[in-house]
Amino acid sequence: MMAKCPVCETKGHPADIESYIEEYIASLPAETAADGQLVEARLKKCACCKHRAGLLCRVCGCFVQVRAAKKNAFCPAPESSYWEQ
Ligand code: SF4
Repeated sequence: MMAKCPVCETKGHPADIESYIEEYIASLPAETAADGQLVEARLKKCACCKHRAGLLCRVCGCFVQVRAAKKNAFCPAPESSYWEQ
């Protein structure tokens, strides 16, 4: 099944997008979810990254909160990963 676009699903309302992101992260299976400390460390890097545009990473197009919440995700920066892991 094709994934739904959260921006289309929420008609682009920022508060609805944030709720969608939170619900999506909460629905991640435990075995695929990164632990809280790892998520926090990743998001600190994203917060000051030149590739971040609001909620999005411009390199991959992901919501940074979602990408950071997945245990096996990586930072896609073309010059070098900004995440430790
Ligand atoms: S390039 Fe890496 S650090 Fe920068 S916003 Fe994307 S995921 Fe975050």
